Amino acid sequence: MKEEFFHHLWKYKLFEIQELKTVCGQNLQIDKVGEHNTDSGPDFFNAKLQIGDVYWAGNVEIHIHSSDWYLHKHQYDKAYDNVVLHVVYDYDKPVIRSSGEILPTLELKGKFDQKLFLKYDSMMSNLLWIPCQEHFLKINDFIKQAWLERLLFERLERKTNQIRNELLKNNNNWEQTLYFFLARSFGFNINAEPFELLAKSIPYACLLKHKNSLFQIQAILFGQAGFLEADFIDDYPKKLQAEYSFLKSKFNLTPINVHLWKFLRLRPSNFPTIRIAQFACFIYSNQNVFSKILDINSIDQAYSMFDLSAEGYWKTHYSFDLVSKEMDKKMGKKSTDIILINAVIPFLFLYGKVNDEAKFQQLAIDFFEQIDSERNNIVLKWQEMGLLSRSAFQSQSLLELKTQYCNAKKCLTCSIGINILKKDSL
Ligand code: SF4
Repeated sequence: MKEEFFHHLWKYKLFEIQELKTVCGQNLQIDKVGEHNTDSGPDFFNAKLQIGDVYWAGNVEIHIHSSDWYLHKHQYDKAYDNVVLHVVYDYDKPVIRSSGEILPTLELKGKFDQKLFLKYDSMMSNLLWIPCQEHFLKINDFIKQAWLERLLFERLERKTNQIRNELLKNNNNWEQTLYFFLARSFGFNINAEPFELLAKSIPYACLLKHKNSLFQIQAILFGQAGFLEADFIDDYPKKLQAEYSFLKSKFNLTPINVHLWKFLRLRPSNFPTIRIAQFACFIYSNQNVFSKILDINSIDQAYSMFDLSAEGYWKTHYSFDLVSKEMDKKMGKKSTDIILINAVIPFLFLYGKVNDEAKFQQLAIDFFEQIDSERNNIVLKWQEMGLLSRSAFQSQSLLELKTQYCNAKKCLTCSIGINILKKDSL
């Protein structure tokens, strides 16, 4: 048995509440169960109860066994002095307050429907794709959609917290911070880490000093990525090498390890060499990128910032010194969508929030609605479960649900799970 199940019973009063009595036989009336506390301290704050003839306002602590009070050493913790009711599954020992009085206790054993526990237990122990898979279809669509909408904001909150942390490290420099996040997004899943390390190895201001020369931006990026530490045949990498050697000592740069880059199982158009060439092109075409993003008014404007292609040498190469058939190395729409979803939109949202400018937050949400749904295994699997995803708004919510709730079996904090485990669902 898990304590969280009894939190759920208490929170939604899923037990016989008529003629309740404490283990000492006093009448108990619950006016307010209190606010669920998931941090340290008692489990529910500010409950309102009547025990016997006395009205109480205070905290509620929940355990499987009453003796857990001593096991968790609450008798030494002042934070538990204001507990007015102990709710337990099994009353195996009285709890004595420091004043010498017995702590009023409600025992839930025999007072709730066992079928509810069996349902919860089977959800927690099955190995299906999601724990509630057997019950999912029975839940009303309105509940699912309302929950998914909330999850999009939770996801944005999580992402914007990561940005806030990085902003703190960068003295609130939005340009520099966005540059890191954009770089990470250009690495997509496979090369996100080395791309981030690459960006962190070169201050954005350094690149801006060479904003008028695509060649110099390429030299810095390829050099810092570790790709120029080789003997080349072609002129282009040799020239980059010479330029990088000068810029490296000018800015006192140290390259990252080239072995961090992954090529395996990637389509050539996703090779890190191509992505770096595109990133160089992006830096060159969008100087002071954060200010530029704040001027965006439409999704088309956002897409136009990424309408770029790795030109010149890269038209006929995917790697240095290896000729390939001539091909356009344009950023695809799907790639741009991923960068907008992971970098541009969270920045817009956060900027609107910290500066109290709702138009940026609204723009961020509008963009989510206008970008096509992602298509990955998680989104496709939800589709099989009847949840269609037409826009990034929905696909991002579905990803949040699966990765942050279902995988962690947090069904008792999920609106769908709460509805599955209601009394009238049996
Ligand atoms: S977290 Fe919610 S959707 Fe996921 S398995 Fe649990 S109840 Fe179902």
